[in-house]
Amino acid sequence: MNKMNALFRQNTLSRDVATSGIGIHSGKRIQLRLLPAAENTGVVFRRTDCGGMEIPALASHVSSVELATTLGRDDVTISTVEHLLAALRICNVDNVIIELDGSEVPILDGSALPFMRLIEATGLRNQAASRRIFVVTAPLSVDLGGKSIRVSPYPGLRVSYSIDFAHAAIGHQQIDVEIDRRSFEGELASARTFAMQQDVAALHQRGLGLGGHQDNCVIFGDDGPANTTLRFADEPVRHKALDAIGDLSLLGAPLWGHVEVERGGHQLHYSMTEALRSRTDCWTWATGQPHATPRPEPRRRQEPAVEQPAMALGLLPA
Ligand SMILES: [Zn+2]
Repeated sequence: MNKMNALFRQNTLSRDVATSGIGIHSGKRIQLRLLPAAENTGVVFRRTDCGGMEIPALASHVSSVELATTLGRDDVTISTVEHLLAALRICNVDNVIIELDGSEVPILDGSALPFMRLIEATGLRNQAASRRIFVVTAPLSVDLGGKSIRVSPYPGLRVSYSIDFAHAAIGHQQIDVEIDRRSFEGELASARTFAMQQDVAALHQRGLGLGGHQDNCVIFGDDGPANTTLRFADEPVRHKALDAIGDLSLLGAPLWGHVEVERGGHQLHYSMTEALRSRTDCWTWATGQPHATPRPEPRRRQEPAVEQPAMALGLLPA
């Protein structure tokens, strides 16, 4: 496929692809099917066991951010969407229907890598419509009790993430990655979800984490991973960065900006999507044509006039 087309035109999958696995919280086996979708459909979940109820993968449909990101509509929910969403975003899949016969995306190996492999197995189909890019044009931060997230203008996507766990086996970890498909695959995609051994019993009592086992998460005991060997010495912070990419994809388009997170999690990532929705002076939509630099879309007349900062749009990679 033409690389420029992949960047500036919308893409869907070339054909259906399916897998199945257990939900990490429900412990139930769930069928997952990805279907090609028309231009401008976006990423849409469909619960086949609930009359085909559809829930768009947009921040406006987030219903919970505890432990995992959950989307909801009426009484129907879909949880643990973030790893699949990160893989779809990085693989440039703009339009897709995600069918599930249960309330959770299968956890597979706890990372985003199996979802990338699934998408690669079917391949992409380029579509005619231009892709919109969510371009940060001014810094914006959210602080939540000693935790913080900040976005600022950047010609592409860069994620700087740090965590501080009192747990000695994790402690302080930080990572700074310029995100593209290659760096995501090499640095973040295979990092697995994790939990503390001391929390597992309480989670089970609440009916959560019932599908967790040695093949799909890292359980940290006092001396380190108790159930598996780490894929990276700093696998937890890499997984958090992966989560952030999935959660921020709920903006509904590729994000261009520098995302800096300290002691983050789903709550903080979601808070930034909310802040960006209300602070339209901090970002703009850009569209791109093959062989051209993305340019800002003209604002609709009814929207308040926002000065276009000279920033980044001139710096964006062609
Ligand atoms: Zn995660």
